Amino acid sequence: MKHYEVVIVGGGINGAGLIRDLALNGVKTLLLDKGDYSSQTSEASSKMLHGGVRYLENFDFGLVQEALEEKNLWLKLTPHLCFERDFYLPLYNYSKYAPWMLGSGLFLYDFLSHFQNRPFGMLNKEQTLQTIPSLEPKGLKGSGKYYDGVVDDAKLTLECLYDALIEPHAEAKSYHEVIETKRVQDGYEVTYKSLMTGEKFTIHASFVVFTTGPFTDQLLPKLNIPWSPQLVPSKGIHLWLKPDAIRAQGSVVLTTRDNRVVFVIPQRDSILVGTTETPVDQEMFNITATDGEVQYLLGVLKQYFPNSKLDHSSIISTFAGIRPLVKAEGHTEALGKVSRFHKIFRPDSHTYVLLGGKYTTFRRMTGELAQEIVPRLGKRYLPNLTLNPLRQTSLMPTFGKKPELTVNLLKKIIKTERVTTFEDLIKRRLSMVENPASLETVMGLPVEVVKSCF
Ligand SMILES: Cc1cc2nc3c(=O)[nH]c(=O)nc-3n(C[C@H](O)[C@H](O)[C@H](O)COP(=O)(O)OP(=O)(O)OC[C@H]3O[C@@H](n4cnc5c(N)ncnc54)[C@H](O)[C@@H]3O)c2cc1C
Repeated sequence: MKHYEVVIVGGGINGAGLIRDLALNGVKTLLLDKGDYSSQTSEASSKMLHGGVRYLENFDFGLVQEALEEKNLWLKLTPHLCFERDFYLPLYNYSKYAPWMLGSGLFLYDFLSHFQNRPFGMLNKEQTLQTIPSLEPKGLKGSGKYYDGVVDDAKLTLECLYDALIEPHAEAKSYHEVIETKRVQDGYEVTYKSLMTGEKFTIHASFVVFTTGPFTDQLLPKLNIPWSPQLVPSKGIHLWLKPDAIRAQGSVVLTTRDNRVVFVIPQRDSILVGTTETPVDQEMFNITATDGEVQYLLGVLKQYFPNSKLDHSSIISTFAGIRPLVKAEGHTEALGKVSRFHKIFRPDSHTYVLLGGKYTTFRRMTGELAQEIVPRLGKRYLPNLTLNPLRQTSLMPTFGKKPELTVNLLKKIIKTERVTTFEDLIKRRLSMVENPASLETVMGLPVEVVKSCF
């Protein structure tokens, strides 16, 4: 039976970040995902590398500072996958905060970044409307401007994985679902099944790590891992709007009537709008947006951009994901207030589970776990290896100048970037925002030509 020191179940950002750290530290590791890598929560985020201005309200200063440090690190390490962008927080007559309060909060935000953020500013009404001409002028007092990162979440996950797989002792398989685990001496036997061929495989692992995000509470009992539910799953949806749907040069942060936050972020020749926050208890895999959720976001947009023609025809596509929020002791708070802290669980001596946190802080969370596992394998853990640049970048960058998509380039992407399906290619390797099923051409190439390259 084949042996690995560590088997990681789940190839979202946490699985990819962990395999990278372990592989760089010389650990023989296998990562398995039942879908494409990064095809669940880690491609359904608001695509922000951020400290979270709103977490300042909860006095989560440590979390904000850590996240800002990570944001500024990835902006330097992967400029082809992320960029810093201006966000505007409009202030109205009825807003909860006075301008001086917002200014103080934004100063604190910059302070916590060790002044690595581009500096915040306060704008009057006219300056605000110059940048966001579509914004409702009635009652507008001005806005606070600050900077956060915008990231291609799916691709950063993929590139962390590619970096890991350069190491000869790291392996990964997509479309392979873990279906059984058996506790044996010195570890676990793990059985997984190819969802493409139906073939089953059993391997031995010294340690099994679950980075299965929102799926964890449902999965672990099925695999007979000792586990009590730890999550408060919370669904969030987003819309990709046509670029002319709203006239805004910068990103806008809107406060909703139910005191939530909706971001409007121009990027990838379109506008990303999100998100919602609703409890969820049904099937969580490949979750989609409901009409009610789409209407809710359109309603918020209509309130703030009353003169923009916004309806279903403004929408290019929608997507949804589930925040794997960890339940706090005696949890009674609204979902929006559940803290984004993370937790490492050890259900038994050979199993770990990493839950919660934010996309932005994945390197810190997976580093904490790697630091615990590596010495248990008799090796010395070097914490700084993940500060090095990623060594295999995507052939089609998300931001900046893109090469022309030719049949040769397509074949190379499919071969070297671990593509299995047409959807993997469209959504995660080419970072297109259109629904793959509705495409007639792909960056100028007819769909039949693209499909014939597989
Ligand atoms: C709406 C929304 C907005 C967000 N916005 C932001 C943001 O702007 N910035 C930020 O920092 N964070 C944000 N987050 C949080 C962030 O997206 C998550 O914390 C992060 O993506 C979680 O990653 P993960 O790897 O733990 O989970 P996932 O990406 O869900 O990965 C888990 C993987 O486990 C796999 N799996 C499940 N069962 C099995 C099995 N039996 N066998 C093999 N594989 C299995 C799944 O296929 C999946 O790929 C947001 C989250 C949501 C939902």
